[in-house]
Amino acid sequence: MPVLCSSCSEKRAVLKRPKTGHSLCKECFFGAFEEEVHQTIVAAKLFKPGETVGVAASGGKDSTVLAHVMKLLNERHGYGLRLMLISVDEGITGYRDDSLETVKRNQQQYELPLKIVSYEELYGWTMDAIVRQVGLKNNCTFCGVFRRQALDRGAIMLKVDKICTGHNADDVAETVLMNVLRGDIARLRRCTAISTASEGDGVVPRCKPLKYAYEKEIVLYAYFKKLDYFSTECIYSPNAYRGHARTFLKDLESIRPSSIMDVIHSGENLSVREGVKMPVQGTCSRCGYISSQALCKSCVLLEGLNRGLPKLGIGKHHRLHEKILSQQPLTESEQRKLKSVDF
Ligand code: SF4
Ligand code: ZN
Repeated sequence: MPVLCSSCSEKRAVLKRPKTGHSLCKECFFGAFEEEVHQTIVAAKLFKPGETVGVAASGGKDSTVLAHVMKLLNERHGYGLRLMLISVDEGITGYRDDSLETVKRNQQQYELPLKIVSYEELYGWTMDAIVRQVGLKNNCTFCGVFRRQALDRGAIMLKVDKICTGHNADDVAETVLMNVLRGDIARLRRCTAISTASEGDGVVPRCKPLKYAYEKEIVLYAYFKKLDYFSTECIYSPNAYRGHARTFLKDLESIRPSSIMDVIHSGENLSVREGVKMPVQGTCSRCGYISSQALCKSCVLLEGLNRGLPKLGIGKHHRLHEKILSQQPLTESEQRKLKSVDF
């Protein structure tokens, strides 16, 4: 006996919703998924009519579903938004070049303007070149720091009011866990926010319309909608720490599907005791980007790369930053320390 959709009771159910356990037909699943994203957008007042919104597009499933759903909801509910796609080209041969082809096809399919900003153009370094210099251990630190700034720069070039990213519920829960495990209170406080206001010049407000969407449902949505997305992992993806948090969360989810929401809920409701020292945000004295140090992380990492001292921005070398940036000579042992690379 085929199982009937528990929502319409007419069509045959084709899936069991990971989030609720309901058996649904394709159409009812699409409707429920889209309505939940709409409710998230409305409840958190993510957008205002007339705004220009940049969808951060990587060609992966999350950002492809985000672009698709944002276009659909904008038309269905008359949000009055002007949507654009912004992509970052990290310069990873065999990965990003292929996924950008997907983004270009999405641009045609969704008829949205697209801006691609590249690390090479912004920083003079591709990730391929960075990995040749720093190896495969800290590459994601460079990539993550550069990407954050690259998206802002792309958004400013396009004059967008807001950037929306494809972070889903699993990503947010994973980040909560990682910040707990690292004791990073400042990030823990920020990471569950569905939207961030501009923290200063050069920083564009961001939001996460898929914050409450389960990764499994995003995959199902993309699959049943036959969306065109790129599913290969980055060839430089050794991010072991996040990987452990992810595996842990997936194990929890298999026993108790609500674990993902529960972790987010816990993160949202944590409050930081008074008196806990938080970094004070200022601006980078070199590029003007927000920073809690004299130089932003991106400028320190770049300086390290350009001087052949890749470890400058990794770990705690604040003591040496001043010395290096004021062109004072380093001792031999200091140079050795900053040069050593772990392959
Ligand atoms: Fe960049 Fe690391 Fe992500 Fe690859 S896995 S795109 S190197 S952050
Ligand atoms: Zn800077």
